[in-house]
Amino acid sequence: MRLVKLLANLGYGSRKEVQTAIRHGWVTDRDGKALKADSPTAHENILFDDEPLDPAQGVVVLMNKPLGYTCSIKDKGRLVYDLLPDRFRMRKPVLSTIGRLDKETSGALLFTDDGTFLHKVISPKAEVPKVYEVTLDRPMKGDEAALFASGGMMLESEVKPLKPAGLEVLDETHARLILHEGRYHQARRMFAATGNHVTALTRSRIGALGLDGLEEGGWKALSEDEKALIF
Ligand code: URA
Repeated sequence: MRLVKLLANLGYGSRKEVQTAIRHGWVTDRDGKALKADSPTAHENILFDDEPLDPAQGVVVLMNKPLGYTCSIKDKGRLVYDLLPDRFRMRKPVLSTIGRLDKETSGALLFTDDGTFLHKVISPKAEVPKVYEVTLDRPMKGDEAALFASGGMMLESEVKPLKPAGLEVLDETHARLILHEGRYHQARRMFAATGNHVTALTRSRIGALGLDGLEEGGWKALSEDEKALIF
């Protein structure tokens, strides 16, 4: 891909702005040699303002989403995109969230610009397990794990029963819930159906991919090995 298009697609500016940056010599190789618009240079060898370029197309980003942020590209209030560099909003193809977390749910949230990867993660067939740490308002009754595992649980206003879900009871008001699908407000609605109320919800893992010390609001581009942990 030509340098101008590559940089514009990564959100470094409009084609015109990027051409200006190239003309000023702000785009160089790793030896500091200024690149021309038609220089054939591998992505990993390009520096913009002495900094390596953002990850190439096909990126998968893991964020530790804080409470109070909405999974939307434009909405009122704080958005998960506010936690990423501004440039990431201008990327082509766009960087979409892979599924969503509610505004009041924290934890592991993935983004990608790779449609095939996105569908692989959310496909019902893939059944990628998503692990949630749940805090409840009231003690559990004791039959929740059996009900969730039954595969026959119906949520209000839905026509298809839920797939079996795992529940590890940690103490009477704390549990680890393992879901293999992603219905709207699923964890909260499942516990509401048992007469309880979720007071805190954090997604701690997607497949075998955990947050591994990623601070709240922090993010990182995943390596191939990290991506493979999801499946
Ligand atoms: N279940 C919920 O209720 N909310 C989420 O954000 C994720 C799963």
